[in-house]
Amino acid sequence: MPLALYNSLTRRKQAFEPIDPDNVRMYVCGPTVYDLAHIGNARAVVAFDLLYRVLRREYGAEHVTYVRNITDVEDKIIDAAHANGEAIAALTARTTAIFREDMAALFNLPPDVEPRATEHIPQMIAMIERLIAGDHAYAAQGHVLFRVSAYPDYGKLSRRSRKEMIAGARVEVAPYKEDPGDFVLWKPSSPEQPGWDSPWGRGRPGWHIECSAMSEAHLGEHFDIHGGGVDLLFPHHENEVAQSVCAHGGKPFVNFWVHNGFLSVDSTKMSKSLGNFVTAHETLQEWPGEVIRLALLSTHYRDPLDWTEERLNQARQSLDRWYRALALPSEIGPVGLTADATAPTIAALADDLNAPLALAHLHEVAGTVNRTSDAEERGALQVALRQSAEMLGLLGDDPQRWLRGGTEDASAIEERIAARGLARKERRFADADRIRAELAAEGIVLEDNPDGTTDWRRA
Ligand code: AMP
Ligand code: ZN
Repeated sequence: MPLALYNSLTRRKQAFEPIDPDNVRMYVCGPTVYDLAHIGNARAVVAFDLLYRVLRREYGAEHVTYVRNITDVEDKIIDAAHANGEAIAALTARTTAIFREDMAALFNLPPDVEPRATEHIPQMIAMIERLIAGDHAYAAQGHVLFRVSAYPDYGKLSRRSRKEMIAGARVEVAPYKEDPGDFVLWKPSSPEQPGWDSPWGRGRPGWHIECSAMSEAHLGEHFDIHGGGVDLLFPHHENEVAQSVCAHGGKPFVNFWVHNGFLSVDSTKMSKSLGNFVTAHETLQEWPGEVIRLALLSTHYRDPLDWTEERLNQARQSLDRWYRALALPSEIGPVGLTADATAPTIAALADDLNAPLALAHLHEVAGTVNRTSDAEERGALQVALRQSAEMLGLLGDDPQRWLRGGTEDASAIEERIAARGLARKERRFADADRIRAELAAEGIVLEDNPDGTTDWRRA
């Protein structure tokens, strides 16, 4: 199924052609690990996980390389470590571990490579040296700056005028800059700040050069897809293009620039600085990861997504409906029917990751599962429902387990059901009824089977 992707560079949807179908390469800007990820950050991860899954399905898992970096050197990290009274390495190790756990709990596949900025300092220094050698950068007062005037295409990706760029980047006018639009590649570190020896003295890299150096190290000079939230288009991605193209003698850098839209609260972007955020970690304490994931997929990745309790409730209802359809008794059904029923979901996702349309197809398939009286047809459609959902990272759970509300206190419930079974066997019916009533009061419904076993689910 040919894939079409919206390319921020051309501002239109284009047929995706990989540079090398045996190695499709994608780089996505990862978290700055100073704090826990909020649910807007999680949206970006889920959006690119969906693209990764679609690419793996189309080209084969072994032919796709997904790199998502960890920014573990940045001024926000220095400030947060200072505020917490925590060592920088301890802070970044702790937040990276929680980030990985939370993203896995949202059913995101781990990227193939997760490079850390602190492990690529020599590559950053080497790239900066090349930029200086080519007159694209200059050193001044312990800083190295990219000379924006030396790259005529600067602003082409974000389509901004010079004036807008300067205003948008809130650039500092500093005495060591030739031009206020020039941006930092390297800056000096004071003795208590993290720093590395370099030809310009002890210092640390700017944020933008980190991604240029890490993408070059793991994907080469020219690769297929570069992603991130739409807030990164300018200045971060614009600066990455400038650095990489100039460091690579003018060669093309990225074919497709893909950006996810914002997750908002009351129509305002969720962000750390505004304080209107909830972390993925705390949301996961309250809702199953699959519910959160579905809620994040319920709007097209480029559209804004307003985060509400209602959206989470709807996601839970959809999952309950689908898992109920999967739990219906069936027989192994015809493969052709499975493939036909899966095709619309594949087509929807291949069309610029149209997840809302793909989800509408899941509802249709589940509806047919519920309606058919043919056990083989039902079996084929259940397989189709599972396979379609798998492309979205959904419905991987055991239906019975899901309908029972997870395993949390399942063993305790099962012990009480066993005690009731024993009471019935011993004709202590009052005890048996009491246990059933207690479970019912907790929302646990029992269904006795003719063979003497008892099934249970949450009401
Ligand atoms: P940061 O840690 O702020 O650099 O963000 C990490 C990733 O999350 C980047 O790709 C951002 O563009 C993305 N991001 C940040 N806030 C939001 C939001 N409210 N909605 C969607 N994506 C976001
Ligand atoms: Zn980046």
